[in-house]
Amino acid sequence: MMKIAVIGTGYVGLVAGTCFAESGHEVTCIDVNPRKIQALKRGEVPIYEPGLEELVRRNMAAGRLHFTEELAGSVGPAQVVFIAVGTPEGESGRADLQYVLAAAEQVGRALKQYTVIVDKSTVPVGTADKVHEVVARHTRCEFDVVSNPEFLKEGAALEDFLKPDRVVIGTRSERARKLMAELYAPFVRTENPILFMDPCSAELTKYAANAMLATRISFMNDMAALCEKVGADVEQVRKGMGADKRIGYSFLHPGIGYGGSCFPKDVKALTATARDMGLEFDLLRAVENTNARQKRCLLTKALKHFGDLSGRTFAVWGLAFKPKTDDMREAPSVELIEGLLGKGARVQCHDPVAVESARRYFGDRVLYAPTNYAAAEGADALFLVTEWNEFRHPDLKRLKATMKSPTIFDGRNVIDPQLAREEGFTYFGIGRPSS
Ligand code: NAD
Repeated sequence: MMKIAVIGTGYVGLVAGTCFAESGHEVTCIDVNPRKIQALKRGEVPIYEPGLEELVRRNMAAGRLHFTEELAGSVGPAQVVFIAVGTPEGESGRADLQYVLAAAEQVGRALKQYTVIVDKSTVPVGTADKVHEVVARHTRCEFDVVSNPEFLKEGAALEDFLKPDRVVIGTRSERARKLMAELYAPFVRTENPILFMDPCSAELTKYAANAMLATRISFMNDMAALCEKVGADVEQVRKGMGADKRIGYSFLHPGIGYGGSCFPKDVKALTATARDMGLEFDLLRAVENTNARQKRCLLTKALKHFGDLSGRTFAVWGLAFKPKTDDMREAPSVELIEGLLGKGARVQCHDPVAVESARRYFGDRVLYAPTNYAAAEGADALFLVTEWNEFRHPDLKRLKATMKSPTIFDGRNVIDPQLAREEGFTYFGIGRPSS
């Protein structure tokens, strides 16, 4: 059993802390946001992540998981301290390290014994050294700084953390390596590897992985645009490509662009790192440009179809940047809805869990419908934005009866175009022949 402190109780910190508690350690999660900590102390999880609340409550009840705003008292006795605070986009696309370095300073002041300090946040190459410097300025205790980037996906975060494809650990210290290997041993029983490497390589691995995934998405979105020009169906092309084992099916779905708190900022940050080193990462610039165009593509299609959008009513199904999360950061829905409102349209939206997050973006400027069918009432068109399972097979007859005009802009290619047409809908997908 180890004593662990986790700084930052967002998607990553809360999941990591809870999973370490689940494997028997005594974990204290720390956050500067008092509302978060108060909610967590009551056993209420402030984010939507399937299964997390149950696991939090179980480990709190077992006395292994604690929450506090007070950093020093928890960091002092801890053998391992995770820094899992935000690293948002900063100046010129670089990662903003102010929260990481502020946490590092507080950790330095609080150390009481040898401690492994783990950079869990996604941070640029060289940050482990920076954190080391900052901590060293404030302590005489021995410590090591380890880079241990996180690869979990929101919506499947517990599964990803408890059974990771791999764990990446960047350290040059044998003492830290042993401790980290022990900590992660319960999660790699399936023989998935713990990859030990130097801190710079570990830091870069996280950005490389996200940039590759974003690249696949933009590649398919460009492919979809070409399919529309030549009359091909990108879904057929996708299947034909994915069947090739060298390519595989993952992350080949065209759509309305990637969003979320990671891909957009991580692609920018990696491009900025390259630029700082005198390299132009042209490929990643193209990935970003394609994504920016793609986020506008449903609005462009609607303008082409309707001409003037003012006075029209539109239904939007899905607000979160992807299913099974309430996270709206950089969600394609934001740009679409702002575009529709800007053109004088009315928007009626529905999302199974992201409505509270959406209120922070749109306030009362849109109508939040209690169901997806209620959102479609009287609508000139439906925009399908997030591929929640419950939107995949709508009752098209019911939908048609409720809408003013039966038109679908399917941003995720989840509705069968032929079926939609047979039911009398005008259907527009991404990279598919439209009617
Ligand atoms: P988040 O914004 O949800 O949470 C960060 C938390 O840190 C907030 O609750 C904030 O109040 C807290 N915080 C900030 N400064 C603090 C301080 N000095 N002391 C204590 N708490 C402090 O962020 P997140 O989505 O969990 O992401 C955290 C990091 O992990 C980022 O670097 C991100 O890129 C990376 N990451 C995120 C995901 C993801 O899916 N969200 C996946 C992998 C990696």
